[in-house]
Formats: sequence, structure tokens, C-alpha cells
Amino acid sequence: MAQTKLQPDMEFVRELQAAGGDSLKKCFQCATCSVACPMSPANNPYPRKEMVWASWGLKDKLEKDIDIWLCHNCGNCADLCPRGARPADMMAAARNMVYKDLMKPSIIGKWMSSAKGLPFLFAIPAVLWLFVWWIMSLVNGGQWFPRAEDGRIVFGQIFYGDYTIDPIFMITFFGALFIILKGAMKLWQQLKPEGTLLLIGKDQPWYYHLYDLVLDEILLHKKFADCKSGPATGVKTPQRQLSHMLLFYSFCILAFVTAVVAGGHWLGKIWPAIAVHTPLPFFNPIKLAANLGAVMLLVGLGMLTVRRIRLNPKYQSSSFQDWYLLGLIWCIGLTGVLAQSFRLMDFAPPAFFIYYLHLVFVWMLFAYLPWSKLGHLVYRTTALIFARKYGRG
Ligand code: SF4
Ligand code: SF4
Repeated sequence: MAQTKLQPDMEFVRELQAAGGDSLKKCFQCATCSVACPMSPANNPYPRKEMVWASWGLKDKLEKDIDIWLCHNCGNCADLCPRGARPADMMAAARNMVYKDLMKPSIIGKWMSSAKGLPFLFAIPAVLWLFVWWIMSLVNGGQWFPRAEDGRIVFGQIFYGDYTIDPIFMITFFGALFIILKGAMKLWQQLKPEGTLLLIGKDQPWYYHLYDLVLDEILLHKKFADCKSGPATGVKTPQRQLSHMLLFYSFCILAFVTAVVAGGHWLGKIWPAIAVHTPLPFFNPIKLAANLGAVMLLVGLGMLTVRRIRLNPKYQSSSFQDWYLLGLIWCIGLTGVLAQSFRLMDFAPPAFFIYYLHLVFVWMLFAYLPWSKLGHLVYRTTALIFARKYGRG
């Protein structure tokens, strides 16, 4: 009879519990959760098996498990669990653990996994942008809060776009993109089972499944509808499908606007006919699109924040990763609005200081993207393509 050697990793269990799976030891393997899950396939269902792997510390099994990525964190399983073991939280914690270790430098993944890492995450861009401020204050004759010749407050006097903001953000963005794509390729390899896989039927290339996935799940977020409203927490929470779609489309609009403005700025230097000059007039289509994106972002963010606050911890809780991303986007929005308000009120020191904080938070969003819940979007897409390609869609 064949024997399998199990290698429990108790440190992994402790980390998983700290990352949000703290109730997993309560599980007594009744499988109610696997029956309750609206997404779980009849063939080899989840999340019961993941609960046993987690409590036994089978890190290897969980890291290679495609099913943790099929879960949409709706909480229906937690709602019906007779032991209060919160399987939905364990699945989310397992995903966080996988992408925490997926990319180098892994210290950032460690800092991102708990509030203790927040001071380090903040300190890096805080020092970077303070250095820029200091250098540019020397260029401005020792003035930390300079004014333009006509007396206006112009943030570009210190944080000059062409030489500070654009190069720093371009390097940061493309660096994060490189890391995240490497991570996605690593995840693909990690998910591949050992040995030879026998595929029955026509084998489609990965981009065929990507096309299918984008139409089905990303543009319409159909799977959120399958999950319905999530657990009966005792309090009505905003609809997840709508809030996620608002956030997703607001990011698309804002990314498009940024690309048009940046492209118009830089390409306009060699082809003046397409130059874009900011600030744009209020009724310019690009400006209108930017405002629409900002409103959608605020509404989606508000709905998700209310939902997190109203979650009943008996069924489902929020991890540091959940709050990190929500909190960071709120900080970016608030510092953006406050910096502009102080500029218009003509208070130079608070305007410059809050604009500096705004740059720190925006840098955090881009630079730590591969380890945050935004990066999760790329890893989940990778895993879902894998699942479809290998017949577990
Ligand atoms: S998590 Fe809860 S519902 Fe699922 S197997 Fe364990 S005890 Fe049963
Ligand atoms: S959270 Fe929802 S999708 Fe995930 S395992 Fe539980 S019931 Fe299934």
C-alpha cells in the first residue's frame, strides 16, 4: 500500500491564524461548508479539505491548491458552520499567505501581513519624498514653501513633474508591474501538479481562457451574483457585486485619464498638436471622465467600507490586508482633496505638507501593489485561467 509522508508546518499554522484564520482549529470536519458553498464543484469540493490541511499545517498542499482562488469570500460557508470555524476567513488568509511569499523582497510581504509592518511601509516613501522636498527647497533658495512669481501656490515648484514625480512614479510602476508578472508566472508553476497531467478533450491556449474570463468574470463580475449576498450577519450590508464593479470601473477610468494626460504631456513635447495642458477646463471630456471616475471610486469605497464595518465577526472578519487597501485609498482621496482646498485657501505650509503626504500614499499604492489586495486581482486572474485550462472552472 502506497504511503504518503505528511510534513506539518506548525509555524505556518500560527501565521495562518494571525492572518485571519484564527478559528480554524474549531473545525470538526462535518463538511457543511462544502455543501453550503455556491461556487464549490461537486467533484472534490472545498473548503472542508482546506480546513483540514490548514489545521494540520500542510503548507505545501495549500500553496498548490487552485481552490483557494476559486473562493469569492462571500461567507455563506461561515454562516452555516456549526462550530463557528469561519472557513471563509481561513480561505482568505491562505490566499494572503500565498502571495505574501510569492515575490521578492519577501520582507515587504511580511510587513503587509500585520499592522506592525505599517510604520516601515510608510517610512520608505516618507523619507524618499522628504529627500526630494529637501533637494528642491535648496533649488528654491532654501524655501520649503515657495510661491510662483504671481504669488500662487504651485506644488510643481517643489514636486516638479518632469524631474521628480514622473520619473519616480514611472520607475515604481514598471518595477511593480515586473514583480507582479514574475509572481503570476511563479504562481502558475506552483499550481501545476507534479507528474504528467492527462487532459481529455481539446486543450485551449491560456489566452483563450483569459478572453473568456475577462468577458465572464472581470467585466460583469458574474460570480459575485452566484455568491448572492453573503452571510446572514444580522445586519444588511451593501451589495458586493455593485461595489466591486464600481471600484473596478473607476480604476479603469482613472488609469485611462492618467495615461491620456501623461501621454499628452510627454508626446506633446515632440508633437505639439496632441499636447495636453493641465489644469484642464471643467467641461473638457477628460476632466469630466476624471470626475466621474472619482465619484464612482468614492461610492464603491464607501459601500465596501460600510460592508466591512457591518460584518458580524461571528461569521466573517476583516484582515489587516483588507483594511490596509481601503484605508490607503481613503488617505489618497482625502489628502488629494485637502491639499487642493488648502491651496485654494492660500495656506502654503499645510497645502505643501498634505500634498507631500498625498505623494507618500500614492507611492505606497503603486510600490506595494504586488503584495496587496490589488495584486490579488492579477493572481486570481492567473489562477482562474489555470483552473479553466485544466478543467476546474
Ligand atoms: S469549517 Fe465548519 S462547516 Fe466546515 S467542515 Fe469544519 S466544522 Fe464543518
Ligand atoms: S466564502 Fe463563499 S465562495 Fe468561499 S468557500 Fe465560503 S461559501 Fe464558498
